[in-house]
Amino acid sequence: MKNVETRGLVLFSRNYREQDKLVKIFTESFGKRMFFVKNASKSKFSSSLQNFTQLDLLGTMNDDGLSFISDISDAKVYKYINSDIFAQAYASYLIGLSDVAIPDNQYDAPLYGFLMKSLDLIEDKIDMEVVTFIFELQVMSRFGAQLDFSQCVFCHRTDLPMDFSYQYNGCLCRQHVDKDMTREYLDPNVIFLCHAFMAIDYDKLPSINISDELKKKIRLFIDGLYDHYTGVQIKAKKFIDGLDGWADIMRDDVK
Ligand SMILES: [Zn+2]
Repeated sequence: MKNVETRGLVLFSRNYREQDKLVKIFTESFGKRMFFVKNASKSKFSSSLQNFTQLDLLGTMNDDGLSFISDISDAKVYKYINSDIFAQAYASYLIGLSDVAIPDNQYDAPLYGFLMKSLDLIEDKIDMEVVTFIFELQVMSRFGAQLDFSQCVFCHRTDLPMDFSYQYNGCLCRQHVDKDMTREYLDPNVIFLCHAFMAIDYDKLPSINISDELKKKIRLFIDGLYDHYTGVQIKAKKFIDGLDGWADIMRDDVK
């Protein structure tokens, strides 16, 4: 495909040979593509090819092998994400997840749009832990896990507190919890919120306020789901897990 135009987000770049760079860009119209940039440091595009940069690009997309950029315009960097270690870690995690959730070259404009919106929210300093929960839960379907947190898998009732069963890939109401003695025993708010996050309209997000204690419970539950259903290991996620203690220390300092 010669000189096609698309919006895209730089996922990462790495040096290649002496002077050149390989830059992976999630394009809105053509999926994730690896671009070859010759003499990268001298290229007029070099400043636009940093991580977390959104841009319009004109280029040649090749389904086999590398793609090429002929022009870049309207590059936008995320200032807060680039300057804050926590925001950067969360953004890297969402980007890493998007990278492994679908194969390269596969068109997925909805995932692209969802990732952009999520990064915009982190940039706007909306609760990045909650943005991440929503992203993780909604992206799970890309890994083949279609979970329904709204109803009991046996009787389909929706009005009782529920636990989660890995054996039945779904929720168990109070009358059916004994079907799986190895089920996850959950705070009812965890399932309630996970169900809400699956279908949430991002515009309503700023008004959501969740206690740190409940966030920790949701974090543990989603970690379990990801271990079980995706098996993916994203480097930035390990970093986030390690940041937890630091966040507490820094908050205590401010008090
Ligand atoms: Zn039931």
